[in-house]
Amino acid sequence: MAVYRQILELAGTAGTDIHDVTGQVNEAVAASGIREGGVLVFTPGSTAAVTTIEYEPGALSDLGRLLEALAPAGGEYAHNQRWGDGNGYSHLRSALLGPSLGAPLAEGRLILGAWQQIVVLDFDNRPRKRRVVVTVQGE
Ligand code: ZN
Repeated sequence: MAVYRQILELAGTAGTDIHDVTGQVNEAVAASGIREGGVLVFTPGSTAAVTTIEYEPGALSDLGRLLEALAPAGGEYAHNQRWGDGNGYSHLRSALLGPSLGAPLAEGRLILGAWQQIVVLDFDNRPRKRRVVVTVQGE
């Protein structure tokens, strides 16, 4: 079995950023030369997440509204009282969606739905440079 790893770097803003990384993950798969197996997309950090969505303005706006309803940016959080960094909502949104996504790889291609993009969400309230670790495993 072969393992290929590539690190992506994404520049964020102080707001919620939703990066479509599908193209970059496909490039990593192509560079790996691996044809059968799986891909893990993981972001280290407790204020970011990885998921899939149809990357179009309506769905992105709806996702933003859902997250704002579940964990409002202006809400009261014990984390903020303890640390004073004001990003309690960012940690909760990250925990809800999770830091990684796995997808199967067959015949050298990711198996994704036609309108299913891989997105990295950066919820932090200050601009950060995010690392995303793409690991391709298989043969
Ligand atoms: Zn924090």
